[in-house]
Amino acid sequence: MRIGVLALQGAFREHVATLAAIGVEGVEVRLPGDIDGIAGLVLPGGESTTMRRLIRRWGLAAPILDLARAGAPIFGTCAGMIVLSRTITGDEEPILPLLDVVVERNAFGRQLDSFETDLAVPILGERPVHAIFIRAPIVEEVGPEVDVLARLDDGRIVAVRQGNVVATAFHPELAGETRFHRLVATMAAEHADPGEGAGRRPHPLRRSRVEP
Ligand code: GLN
Repeated sequence: MRIGVLALQGAFREHVATLAAIGVEGVEVRLPGDIDGIAGLVLPGGESTTMRRLIRRWGLAAPILDLARAGAPIFGTCAGMIVLSRTITGDEEPILPLLDVVVERNAFGRQLDSFETDLAVPILGERPVHAIFIRAPIVEEVGPEVDVLARLDDGRIVAVRQGNVVATAFHPELAGETRFHRLVATMAAEHADPGEGAGRRPHPLRRSRVEP
């Protein structure tokens, strides 16, 4: 099974390395043809305005939307979260509006450009996630289909899931945190091989738990 990592701009290598650490081949995606045969896609951190512009220029929006609508998992971190949002405050045009959320870019302002904290993310088990925030967005509003996966102590939302689309305002791939990628890999395995009981052998990842 191969999982794509959008490699137009930003911190994509760290996601390929995190996938490798859990035994999954990460494929760098730059052109629509790179999407053929991948079972899921990661959108990295970086600069969301540039990323949105390059997605448009290289004709990647339609094939990514098709992949998502076919049920493959899509995972966005930081700028990747912004790119997946239906509404970006400041009237920036959405391009992959797969998450029914309102996000605010650079929500922590200059005083708190970057910071790290430990977050409870119940879907990943009891051990907290060490979360690194770098000029990070905040989710200001969520629609009825959106599950909140994590909040800061003050209640602000920093991780969400809507069906097969997962997004974090922080960077698990910079903290040696593999559980989000394991979750995505498990979802991708289920998407790639839904035929439990159809005579096919279950993919090994199906049996692996998110937290070892
Ligand atoms: N501030 C960036 C943006 O708005 C996101 C930063 C990041 O991905 N670490 O696009």
